[in-house]
Amino acid sequence: MSKKKLAAVLMAGLICGFILGKITEDKTMEDKNIDTIFAMGEENPYGKFFTGKTYLNMLSQGDDVFNAPVGNVTFEPGARTNWHKHSGGQILLVLAGEGRYQERGKEIRILHKGDVVRIAPDVEHWHGAAPDSWFTHISLETNVPNNKAQWLEPVSDGEYK
Ligand code: MN
Repeated sequence: MSKKKLAAVLMAGLICGFILGKITEDKTMEDKNIDTIFAMGEENPYGKFFTGKTYLNMLSQGDDVFNAPVGNVTFEPGARTNWHKHSGGQILLVLAGEGRYQERGKEIRILHKGDVVRIAPDVEHWHGAAPDSWFTHISLETNVPNNKAQWLEPVSDGEYK
């Protein structure tokens, strides 16, 4: 094969690879199907307290100037937190998708864009996506800086349904 031919083949390969990559990338974004406001951010560093894949974008860090940690949390379909509680409570603002919220011993609540969930201090609960929908909420930590999360057991498939 001549050098020219080889160069042409390599170039064609590069272009095909690029196009394939683009298609795959677009497909992934389409699959996520999130029409929301803030970037989904990185894979959640607290992932070990969650089932399924989740993403966290801290919109305001928990610094001692504002004492107002604000995070954008995105859940893939079926993903949810473990059971847990916050010593200072938490407020969720739903941005996109369909979600689930449950307090221990109560019915599961279905969440949609625009819903507000006020979680009182020390109430055991979990939150997450519907089985067939991505879900995004903002999490506001309240009563900081003395607000600590206590993580409990995962939400079983039976509890999640
Ligand atoms: Mn919570």
